[in-house]
Amino acid sequence: MADRELRTIIIGAGMAGLLAGIKLKERGDSNFVIYEKGESAGGTWRENSYPGLACDTPAHSYCYSFALNPDWSAFYAPGPEIRAYFESMAEQYGLLPHIRFNTEIERCEWHDSQWHIRIKTGETDQSDILVAASGVLHHPSVPDIPGLLDFERPWFHSARWDHSVLLEGQRIGVIGNGSTGVQIVSALAKRAGKLVHFQRSPQWIMPCPDIQYSEEDKQGFRSDPAKIEAVRNGPEAAARRARFTAAIIDMESPELAEIQEIVEKNLEVSIRDPVLKEKLRPNYRAACKRMIFSAHYYNAVQEPAVFLENKAIERVEATGIRMNDGTFHELDVLAIATGFDVGKFVRPMQFFGESGLELDEIWATGPRAYYAVTVPRFPNLCLLNGPTGPVGNFSLVDIAEKQWAYFDQLVDLIRSGQCKTVAPSMEALQAYEAARDKDAMRTVFASGCKSWYLNDQGVPQVWPWSYDHFVTVMSEPRLEDYVLTA
Ligand code: NAP
Repeated sequence: MADRELRTIIIGAGMAGLLAGIKLKERGDSNFVIYEKGESAGGTWRENSYPGLACDTPAHSYCYSFALNPDWSAFYAPGPEIRAYFESMAEQYGLLPHIRFNTEIERCEWHDSQWHIRIKTGETDQSDILVAASGVLHHPSVPDIPGLLDFERPWFHSARWDHSVLLEGQRIGVIGNGSTGVQIVSALAKRAGKLVHFQRSPQWIMPCPDIQYSEEDKQGFRSDPAKIEAVRNGPEAAARRARFTAAIIDMESPELAEIQEIVEKNLEVSIRDPVLKEKLRPNYRAACKRMIFSAHYYNAVQEPAVFLENKAIERVEATGIRMNDGTFHELDVLAIATGFDVGKFVRPMQFFGESGLELDEIWATGPRAYYAVTVPRFPNLCLLNGPTGPVGNFSLVDIAEKQWAYFDQLVDLIRSGQCKTVAPSMEALQAYEAARDKDAMRTVFASGCKSWYLNDQGVPQVWPWSYDHFVTVMSEPRLEDYVLTA
């Protein structure tokens, strides 16, 4: 019997949405549309353009396994290059005719065995399969700092960088020292007249190599793809991944102790001034907050123009920032690198499953999905890089590829006529969540710091098991955990 032809709607033309489109085309299925709220592809790499933007996952791992790129300019590729890579993928794989740019979906509703979506313009569309690849980190979180709106000079969130604003020689303030703030300060330390880095909590910094690839290196990657494979999965990469996962899933592991030693030594040998050293020393374990990799930050904070401010911000005034001890920093520009509203996932889109069940009901205590991919009573729905998936310092491209391969096996059941709908049972989600919550409390993320990984109860909302376990469970869905309807 011929496969049943299905129509698929994909939300988002970032790395994961493009992947879904490429994989559908690969199997000869062109019956899909990708709705993208922005004006071009690339997702987070389109939205972020701040100075110093880079990916702290090795570039050769941060690309599709079927479209390796010998031309990366560095071991850690700059953001614009990554954006260009994903844009080129959209073109190369013939996805552009499938993408509707500047089209924001506001509502997705399952009824009459189909997904019915409504676009902001009022237009509607239907499909058998819905893929939410709308990203995790794209709703900027602007802090509730008193007086912020009174600042009379240019200010913006790191994900809304205003490139018309002059930086050279200016007095620049950067609030936040997550991966973003650290990258911005590293990039601007030599360009600013004065740069104040406002740090609420210190961060451990993992040293990393600053490897730029020469033409000769690139030629080597071109002529011998095994060299790329070695960077992706060679013994060094495998050991790094194994050490890192062992460390994050068990706060008492020797691997975490080893990482702790590395970051402490990095602080010790890199920072000369003992006062600055203590300002930069966290009082929690390495990797409790997302690990920051930087070859340049400790040099940057020791540049003469840079001042690390670790007192509490009292308020923002018209021309600068007042600290709680009365100190005032006059600023020409203020960049807010305070992260993203991470609980949102598919929101603000509204999702309704079987019998009008609203996703917010299932997500009343936080976003959740069975093995991070599927949701009970929301049939034929796939979340890519959804809640509780592996995070930390993994390649999300690799994670999305494995999640897609898993979901595609479920869709095969529909294609082949074995069923019309597929969704996990509520019991399966509950069992997954109970096991996940329990094991999440052993991870380093629960070892005593505040971070965006934690829910209101302090339970990390992450994958608490090994990378190998992720690979195993994604290799084949456990059909006994699924409800199939004919
Ligand atoms: P983030 O990790 O959430 O860090 C936010 C920073 O803002 C923290 O330093 C936080 O301080 C500070 N902050 C928040 N509210 C504040 C307030 N009211 N007053 C003062 N400080 C405040 O955000 P991010 O650096 O933008 O990174 C977000 C995520 O993006 C990362 O975890 C990562 O997944 C991703 N990212 C990845 C890369 C990459 O290379 N792959 C690069 C950049 C970003 P506290 O620590 O005290 O809360």
